[in-house]
Amino acid sequence: MKDQTKTNSSIKVNTKDSQVNGDIIVGGHNSTIVKQTVVQDNSIKYNVDREDNSFLETIAPIIIEKFGKMKVLGIGIAGIISGILSLMIPSPYLFWIGFILLIVGFLFIIVYKHHSNTQCKKCNREFAYEEIGNPEAREVPTHDGLIKKTITRTYKCKFCGDVDTRNTNKTIDSKPDSDKRD
Ligand SMILES: [Zn+2]
Repeated sequence: MKDQTKTNSSIKVNTKDSQVNGDIIVGGHNSTIVKQTVVQDNSIKYNVDREDNSFLETIAPIIIEKFGKMKVLGIGIAGIISGILSLMIPSPYLFWIGFILLIVGFLFIIVYKHHSNTQCKKCNREFAYEEIGNPEAREVPTHDGLIKKTITRTYKCKFCGDVDTRNTNKTIDSKPDSDKRD
């Protein structure tokens, strides 16, 4: 992971250094252009692993087939609410029931989400999208010292070939090296 980061960019991973470098390299008379270049230089791109959804890919079709999509959502919500309520009552017996209800609730919500994410927008087939290519991460330092990380993944419908590109954004509060990806 770290090697990929280095080969992909001539810019140092340490973002505070690269900001200084950016100013020196450009040194232009137009301050607007200098600023834009600094932002460009500070971004880091690297490849990340594809998602491992093998567990969901196995169980989601079985659960959706058995209950139907809306029931899966209903059981998920009901499981989480009743799980939390059970945990609020001080009883060791209810604790375990609440614990199991919560797990079942979250599992059904995840299955529901997986079904929605993999249903093709074009041909409407279920469990159709599969991840293709090399997902890429881009990290851009923000003005308040945080790092905005965007991961771009591409999915392709295995039935009609529709391609769908999705970005997920998150803000991390330290240098890329401390990110616990690897
Ligand atoms: Zn399709």
